[in-house]
Amino acid sequence: MHTAARLDTLGTEQAYVVLAAARRLEASGHKVVHLEIGEPDMPTPPHVVEAGVRALRDGLTRYALAAGVPELRDAIARSLAARGVRATAENVVVTPGAKPALFCTALSLIGPGDEVLCPDPGFPIYESVVRFAGGRPVYYPLDETREFAPHVDAIAERVTPRTRVLILNLPHNPTGGVATTHDLTALAALAQRHDLWVISDEVYGQIRYDGRRDSIAALPGMSDRTVIVDGFSKGYSMTGWRLGYGVMPASLTDAMTTLVINNVSCTATFVQYAGIAALTGPQDAVTRMVAGLRAKRDLLVRGLNAIEGITCASPAGAFYCFPDLSGVLERTGLTCKSFAERLLAEQHVAVLAGTAFGPGGEGHLRLCYATEPVELERALGALSRFVGALTPAAAGLT
Ligand code: PLP
Repeated sequence: MHTAARLDTLGTEQAYVVLAAARRLEASGHKVVHLEIGEPDMPTPPHVVEAGVRALRDGLTRYALAAGVPELRDAIARSLAARGVRATAENVVVTPGAKPALFCTALSLIGPGDEVLCPDPGFPIYESVVRFAGGRPVYYPLDETREFAPHVDAIAERVTPRTRVLILNLPHNPTGGVATTHDLTALAALAQRHDLWVISDEVYGQIRYDGRRDSIAALPGMSDRTVIVDGFSKGYSMTGWRLGYGVMPASLTDAMTTLVINNVSCTATFVQYAGIAALTGPQDAVTRMVAGLRAKRDLLVRGLNAIEGITCASPAGAFYCFPDLSGVLERTGLTCKSFAERLLAEQHVAVLAGTAFGPGGEGHLRLCYATEPVELERALGALSRFVGALTPAAAGLT
């Protein structure tokens, strides 16, 4: 039996492959430190859970309008003011997670042969959905010396007459990088000069340590050419609820809604009521989580920099570190992928190789630090022992 050829264009996320390997180790009785999957370890705030349960009890168990419950669309539109974006409910389409918003946006904007500028390293689903839509991903590098902020010159060099979309992800997975106002302004000018759409993935927007909240869509002339992709998974610890949204020019919402109707009909109704509570209720759980994450980031970055051959910048956002271990790899002949595999097999610490995010991730690991400090200490101890024992001979090179 044959499957449709378009499936060949879909990629996946390495995180799930590593998670499966880690679970196998656990099933055979080992304790594994999980730094591979990108999700907060905090529970969903209780008032949000309560709103979801209340909605279920109140019988809000039927189909919702395809573009979303009007009160949630309105609450999302209002919440955008925090990042300087002016929008109304007409600009919002609710989806079961940010990923479906990304998928529908890609299918709405990208046609065969269109070139799409994607960050490298970057979230692997960008490349996957661009190819699925018939487009061609064109990678732009992120420079470690600029703390992984997207650089307009590196992006401008890659623009051709076929370029249609620029994908930004700020704060960035896997590096935690953000952009300065100067960078965003230059990128906005580039998008306008070349008549590009911008897909601005802002799922980590609440998790910043510089206290800032921004969006390229807030800059003059940008709301007409930007689709913000966002959701509740990261900021409100709601990964399993599946709730996200796109914010776009009103002229695009019909196309996006048609895609939603064809695919999922609507996002679960009671989940949308939990989303209203998340946005309009107290935000102290988010503030507490970000404060806790800052301390965990500092602990991990300090510990990584103390290991010979590893250097790690302190990321300004999200909950990932992206250490450079080229010093260790050059000495031992390992790749970041074989390093990560052996770290899991021998020390039971699950991390992702930088190359899981594209060729630009070579020489790096991605570590998610949204976990207990004691787990981070355990991971650092194991990493240090592992690196210390890695002579070229131990790495199988002699
Ligand atoms: N965008 C980025 C950059 C992510 O890292 C993730 C999740 O890991 C998503 C989107 C998807 O988020 P959601 O759980 O809302 O689908």
